[in-house]
Amino acid sequence: MGEFDLIKRYFTPGHYSEDVLLGVGDDAAVMAVPQESRLVAAVDTIVEGVHFPIGTSAANVAYRALAVNLSDMAAMGALPRWFTLSLCVPSAENEWLSEFGSALSDLATEYAVQLVGGDTVKGPLNISIQIMGVVDQAHWLTRSGAQQGDLIFVSGVLGEAAGGLQLILNPNIEAELSFARHLLHRFYRPIPRVELGRQLNNRLATAAMDISDGLLTDLRKLCAASQCGAEIDLELLPASPPLINVFGEAMAEQFALQGGDDYELLFTVPEERLPSLEQVIKMTGVPCTRIGRITRSGAVQCFRKNTPITIADAGFDHFAESN
Ligand code: ADP
Ligand code: MG
Repeated sequence: MGEFDLIKRYFTPGHYSEDVLLGVGDDAAVMAVPQESRLVAAVDTIVEGVHFPIGTSAANVAYRALAVNLSDMAAMGALPRWFTLSLCVPSAENEWLSEFGSALSDLATEYAVQLVGGDTVKGPLNISIQIMGVVDQAHWLTRSGAQQGDLIFVSGVLGEAAGGLQLILNPNIEAELSFARHLLHRFYRPIPRVELGRQLNNRLATAAMDISDGLLTDLRKLCAASQCGAEIDLELLPASPPLINVFGEAMAEQFALQGGDDYELLFTVPEERLPSLEQVIKMTGVPCTRIGRITRSGAVQCFRKNTPITIADAGFDHFAESN
């Protein structure tokens, strides 16, 4: 199968909505951005053996590649609309491509985003998706708006994806099947919190980001951008029964603080907006937990029973010396 046939067969959507004026097949795609909107763009690349274990199914790779990009849109409070796909595969295997293509198309349909173009090359397996979305003009979420006194929230529970990854990397770890399945699913299928992000962008959150490298590492980034500090109450971290069951409380907490890959939202809300947040939680059905408070300055400080706890920085950094 030639490159042309491959693209036509697996990566040419059957139909586009009206805002796609020109989709897959030309030198570039053309989209209509609504007049009162602004374009939001992000790109994320996932590499076999780095972002997902060797042997991950084509469907899981496709899901993850798009989900992490949708999560970036969620973190901006944007409505994702279009994406391009740069696919680097070692060979053109029909079965793999077909599984990849249909999983990608399923998730795209679920979130109403459209594949408008891409590139297909031969090489070590890696997938790069560039996503584009829209926000109302002058109205988007950033990492930089947190204010002293704001409450810090996270969506969902943290650490489960890191637990899942541990199970994949260490098949000898004993785990009850239903718990193991749950944790693996959380690693392979993170839920992009798009609707939550959009609601938070409705003058609710002062700052937001998605957690890809671990809570502490990412909170430090948010604090640096907002020029503030933070206090985290470890007892408030949302507990995961499956994670605790398999790994014990101490390690579950460590995964929650330092494990990456959860793609939950981390955001700050002024106390007086709590009633609106309660409504959003009800409406979206996404549980959100208050875990601490923004301080004027200083680092990110963790507390247990009001006692400061020191936690070594172990968030993921591709270019850190020890990697
Ligand atoms: P060019 O020579 O202009 O780079 P290509 O031959 O690489 O074009 O691609 C032809 C068309 O197919 C373009 O519209 C491109 O966007 C699209 N395309 C290529 N690979 C993919 C892919 N993996 N997914 C979606 N569209 C793709
Ligand atoms: Mg061209």
